[in-house]
Amino acid sequence: MSESNSTKQSTREQFIKYAKKGEILLNQCTKCKNIMLETVYYCDKCFSNSFRQVSYSGRGRVVTYTIQSVAPEGFEDVSSYAWVIFKLDDCDVNVSGFLPGVSTPADLPLGSKIQVIDFHEKHGLILQKY
Ligand SMILES: [Zn+2]
Repeated sequence: MSESNSTKQSTREQFIKYAKKGEILLNQCTKCKNIMLETVYYCDKCFSNSFRQVSYSGRGRVVTYTIQSVAPEGFEDVSSYAWVIFKLDDCDVNVSGFLPGVSTPADLPLGSKIQVIDFHEKHGLILQKY
């Protein structure tokens, strides 16, 4: 395993640790202060690759989503779920995650308040309405 892989792994572990506390770990460009997901390698505004990690509340509002009626592995007890894109309340960044218990659009109007509650190894962020 190369050194960059192990660095990436620890970033992922950090992200998971924060998600389990209900927070989102993001990268802030040290040059222009642009805030991005921790999965990016270059700032999309100034192309700097120098970041510092910042954490924000995992609360936000639903921007868009798709409803899936067949739950993926690990969620066989969930009849249906939504794959949700939501915008964080505290910064202008969109994040995606998994919200169980959504079977029709009436269950999840756009703009609904949701929050990060956990992280699943395969499926990523786990959300709930609040
Ligand atoms: Zn930048």
